[in-house]
Amino acid sequence: MKTLGTKRIDVKKHNRGQIMKLIATGICSNRSELVAHMGMTKMAITNMVAELTEKGLITEGETDPISGAGRNPITLRISDKAPKTVGILILRDRCEAVLCDFYLNVLERKTVFLHQPDKKQLISVIYSLAEAMMSGEESILGIGISCIGPIDFDRGMILDPPYFYGIHDIPVVGLLEDRYGLPVFMDHDNQSGALAELLYGNGRRRDSFMLLGIDRGVGCGIVKNGALYLDSRKMAPEIGHVSIDHKGKRCVCGSRGCMELYVNSACITERLRRITGEQREFREFCQMKERECTSEIFEDMVEKMASALVSTINLLNLELILLGYDGVYLPEKYVRRLEDEINEYKFTKERYRTQVNKAYFGEDSQLLGAVCNVLCQVYEGKLLMD
Ligand SMILES: [Zn+2]
Repeated sequence: MKTLGTKRIDVKKHNRGQIMKLIATGICSNRSELVAHMGMTKMAITNMVAELTEKGLITEGETDPISGAGRNPITLRISDKAPKTVGILILRDRCEAVLCDFYLNVLERKTVFLHQPDKKQLISVIYSLAEAMMSGEESILGIGISCIGPIDFDRGMILDPPYFYGIHDIPVVGLLEDRYGLPVFMDHDNQSGALAELLYGNGRRRDSFMLLGIDRGVGCGIVKNGALYLDSRKMAPEIGHVSIDHKGKRCVCGSRGCMELYVNSACITERLRRITGEQREFREFCQMKERECTSEIFEDMVEKMASALVSTINLLNLELILLGYDGVYLPEKYVRRLEDEINEYKFTKERYRTQVNKAYFGEDSQLLGAVCNVLCQVYEGKLLMD
């Protein structure tokens, strides 16, 4: 059991973390805004800012010119000397890595495509990416992992993702912690992406939304009541396996008619190739001038997505759907149609409108989400705030 003293220290760390978050995510830029936002006294904020400045995390910038009459407040910034974070995204076809600052600016980036790797080769790709990001950087905060599931959070392990070259049980968190002596945090790719959108993207100031990742499979990350939605077993929500046809095709999960069987970008691309006779990628078909034959396929895709989304929105009452991965290429006309379909059929249509937009970070939400898996530990006062 925690003593009162420990709790007080935890609250203090949490408050310092919140100051870092409010400055890094652009919600506050000076002491008065921090006072107003955090509902604390000017003295308390001034003291905490002084402590963070002392630690080299915050620095004073120029005077804020837009604050009107009277003495203009001094702008606060995250220091250029604050540590940087490595983020690694592990997918079926590739591993990607970035090095970011607290503003989520990408300072370094590297991608390695996977060609039928075995477990040892996959681990060595992950090491090589981590090392490429860290080389030449003095101060590293930690390593964030964003990856396809299922994941065992307690053991920091990627379990047995379907269609993953037979690779399973990779203790990726422990391996990286042991090798580099840095804190490592992992989450599912779309949950990580939703976190990036919540903190820095189109989910900022939103109470509830879904990041819908349309790729070779279809996954999602969900934010509810302003925080990532996660059950006590830490299982990710699986919208791809919401059935839209109980007599439909058999899915790898054992159920029938799962949405991802019909809507994944590989299957849509295959249909578009067949009907046009052109060997293009999903993105290219989306960018082409519209043709009747391709419209039918996009319309069918939107109808099937809407079906699974309406069921999910009826359960969770989400105010926003953000399209991620290949979904960011969907022509705007179909994004609007998806929004209209959802709002025509959802139960709460008279009460509020659910919006559909594209992810702020485009295809990169899940990659930048890896970095956010570490940064959110700072913002919750669990890392760097001692
Ligand atoms: Zn399924």
